Amino acid sequence: MYWNSLSEHLRSQYGGKVYKLALSSGCTCPNRDGTLGRRGCIFCDGAGAFAAAGDIPSQLAAAKARVVAKAGPNARYIAYFQSFTNTYGPVDRLRALYTAAMAPPEVAVLSIATRPDCLGPEVLSLLAELNRSKPVWVELGLQTIHPASAAYIRRGYDLPVYDRAAAALRAAGVTVVVHQILGLPGETLADMAETAQYIGASGANGIKFHLLHVLRGTDLAADWQAGKVRTMELDAYIAALEACIRRLPRQVVIHRLTGDGAKRDLLAPLWSGDKKRVLNAIHAAFRRDDLEQGSGLPDP
Ligand code: SF4
Repeated sequence: MYWNSLSEHLRSQYGGKVYKLALSSGCTCPNRDGTLGRRGCIFCDGAGAFAAAGDIPSQLAAAKARVVAKAGPNARYIAYFQSFTNTYGPVDRLRALYTAAMAPPEVAVLSIATRPDCLGPEVLSLLAELNRSKPVWVELGLQTIHPASAAYIRRGYDLPVYDRAAAALRAAGVTVVVHQILGLPGETLADMAETAQYIGASGANGIKFHLLHVLRGTDLAADWQAGKVRTMELDAYIAALEACIRRLPRQVVIHRLTGDGAKRDLLAPLWSGDKKRVLNAIHAAFRRDDLEQGSGLPDP
């Protein structure tokens, strides 16, 4: 069995566990502020508050305080701008945020989640510059390569936009991590595996798998309540994960095997709320099936 897990990858790079410190940039999202749309992606609940939660040093200190007991005094950290579109704003403001986040010596990596249509030349050159002092990871929410699914989720950009952004980030030496959602309405196992293979072939360094899950208050919830959308069962989700991982090059790091939305707002599938049980089931299936990352790719 082989799959390239983030925890193993970090252990080999940094000699131990590396902890994420979630930070708020205060950036909005063009899919919510009216530039592209006001209702966002169909599954997005807009959680995470647009307003910045204090300056970056205070946010870092608060986030560290939450994990320091298990992390210990010598732990390394990933400063992680997770919610919303964290490259959407004036480049001077972004520079100030990013440099503050990566300044502490114990911060080993700067990680920034964003959209591929929010990576203009100035932002790209800032990321390239910062990447020369510490590794910069950029997470792109691609979710699918299939146009019908992209339209349904109201992603708001076409596949060539992703292609250009991924290529520009790789050319700048920045680590690219791509999000894929499994279980989008109408997608078959083959469709999902095709997306994973495409992500691997696009030069992505890492991938995050998410399960399509329905959160209260989203437009997806309305479709689910109307019976227009069904969510996956756990066995089907695991089968899809395995199909995708078999189509990923072995060097692609798997950052996440399932999503974890806010439990109090989770409408479906309810099994996904028990993350520990889900991960145990996934790991057991990987062992049972002797999963080999990349085994479904043609020989080079
Ligand atoms: S791009 Fe992200 S923040 Fe913006 S609407 Fe979609 S999921 Fe929400």
